Amino acid sequence: MVSKILIANRGEIALRVLRACKELGIPCVVVHSTADADAMHVRLADESVCIGPPPSRESYLNIHQIVAACEITGADAVHPGYGFLSENAKFAEILEAHGITFIGPTAEHIRIMGDKITAKTTAQELGIPVVPGSDGEVKTEEDALRTAAEIGYPVLIKATAGGGGRGMKVAKSADDLIEAWSTARTEAAAAFGNDAVYMEKYLGKPRHIEIQVFGDGEGNAIHLGERDCSLQRRHQKVWEEANSPALNVEQRMKIGQVCADAMKKLKYRGAGTIEFLYENGEFYFIEMNTRLQVEHPITEAITGIDLVHEQIRVASGGGLSVKQEDINFHGHAIECRINAEDARTFVPSPGTITHFHAPGGLGVRVDSGAYQGYKIPPYYDSLIGKLIVFGRTRVECMMRLRRALDEFVVDGIKTTLPLFQDLVDNQDIANGEYDIHWLENYLAKKPA
Ligand code: ADP
Repeated sequence: MVSKILIANRGEIALRVLRACKELGIPCVVVHSTADADAMHVRLADESVCIGPPPSRESYLNIHQIVAACEITGADAVHPGYGFLSENAKFAEILEAHGITFIGPTAEHIRIMGDKITAKTTAQELGIPVVPGSDGEVKTEEDALRTAAEIGYPVLIKATAGGGGRGMKVAKSADDLIEAWSTARTEAAAAFGNDAVYMEKYLGKPRHIEIQVFGDGEGNAIHLGERDCSLQRRHQKVWEEANSPALNVEQRMKIGQVCADAMKKLKYRGAGTIEFLYENGEFYFIEMNTRLQVEHPITEAITGIDLVHEQIRVASGGGLSVKQEDINFHGHAIECRINAEDARTFVPSPGTITHFHAPGGLGVRVDSGAYQGYKIPPYYDSLIGKLIVFGRTRVECMMRLRRALDEFVVDGIKTTLPLFQDLVDNQDIANGEYDIHWLENYLAKKPA
């Protein structure tokens, strides 16, 4: 068993992990930048260590400071949350070299899935269906033209080191292919210091459906069903649901089993998410995230399994607490990501929260470090909380969500709450009929 956990993150996820540690009776330490001295997770932690000034690279991304904080406080494990160092293989290696447990997969698995070409090849070898595309990197103009002709237009050029939707370019025909290919390379080089790109068939109206997996590192693995994260703006998820309105039980169990079997073969350890685009009844792998996801609470709501407890248990060598046949999917859950941004322009709105009231009642969960008087610093992403609502059916979940949104008060700053109040009353959303482009089209058409 790990005896003391250091949480190398901030905001709502630091609080989320802290709560799990408290429930398990494991002492924990939080680290924070000078900008986060008043954060809720710092106030609630048993111990805290300031690791540097506000910029992330000098604090939350500063590996030396984090390792030093472990040594000073005697922490023997680190939970990285999501973002920051959570998918940094070097960080995992350095911790292990210091005898500190990284609560996550092996450095090797992080590395494989962090490079998109290697991830795709590995997925294919493990029996996971992938998007038709180039055989690895597209290095020359001739390569690009030949591959595009083979897979058929439109095609998408993607950066192998990509993330956050950057370095992606669509080409509708041979006329714009070369330009798309060279722009994607330039953008990839600038953003990731690696200009390698590959090519995929561009899917017109897919949904984004991802499977939650969990492995014990010894060859046992399970799946916890899917999440539909099709409602996105600039490739950022905005609203997520479990189960997907587009899948039936057979489809869910079939793709879930494919993913669990793949993780068994890989001997994957800890929580992971296998992301797919889903179109015309087919799944196409796009990437695997080797960490806890922002939207993990909707899976917790429909399975009753605490994913952070499970991560800590697996990292302690205790194995998985459940077998596949013990997992029951019941009801429906929706998560809304509440950002400190203007709901219309999406311009960030840092500042002081003058009044804060979180909704409650049956089936309502709010994961947020925000409170009245809290000053949102301008240095980090603008997620200030997540509203997660559960109902026995999707209809009940939507009714409850509408009520919870009405109760939610955040004054003093702008938030994206009004966007969700619109979405919950929208007919397409009510029908569950949306793809990955739906939200952008809706926002473009919406009167100012
Ligand atoms: P990133 O790591 O940059 O987020 P992903 O591979 O996860 O990159 O893709 C991000 C988003 O881009 C997807 O959620 C989807 O909206 C879109 N996308 C990716 N691949 C394709 C494809 N082959 N066809 C259409 N859209 C795609």
